[in-house]
Amino acid sequence: MPHQELRWEAVLWAAGHRVTRQRALILDAVCAGQGHTSLGDVYARVRRADRSIDRSTVYRALHLFVDLGLVLTADTGGGETYYEIKKPHPHHHLVCRRCGDEQEIGAAAMRAVTDHVSREHGFQVATDHLVLFGRCRACRDADGV
Ligand SMILES: [Zn+2]
Ligand SMILES: [Zn+2]
Repeated sequence: MPHQELRWEAVLWAAGHRVTRQRALILDAVCAGQGHTSLGDVYARVRRADRSIDRSTVYRALHLFVDLGLVLTADTGGGETYYEIKKPHPHHHLVCRRCGDEQEIGAAAMRAVTDHVSREHGFQVATDHLVLFGRCRACRDADGV
């Protein structure tokens, strides 16, 4: 499981949080998303394993994992937040609105933009995980544009 590489128990302990079976289940449920997963998806997976866990417990645990840097979030722009197990390499996502295909791109692709914003506006961008929507190559080819 990819999240085992995170030594998440040690991270929780170090921050003064208990390692509980519920938290383990919730982190497993994020992991099972194999990439991006929504709060609703995580909740549904957790409930399959333990029906006593409520939605607010899942929500609070996800926020704790995000605060501790174990889980990444990305705003999809449609009011939904994606959760994902933190990966060792910074990256962004390209999501095709037509076919739903997702690809990852390296952080360097956005660096030119954030460097420009820093230079021109004196603003240091902290957003390091973006979901960009559009149309993939295959769909553009199919559409002939
Ligand atoms: Zn991601
Ligand atoms: Zn597509």
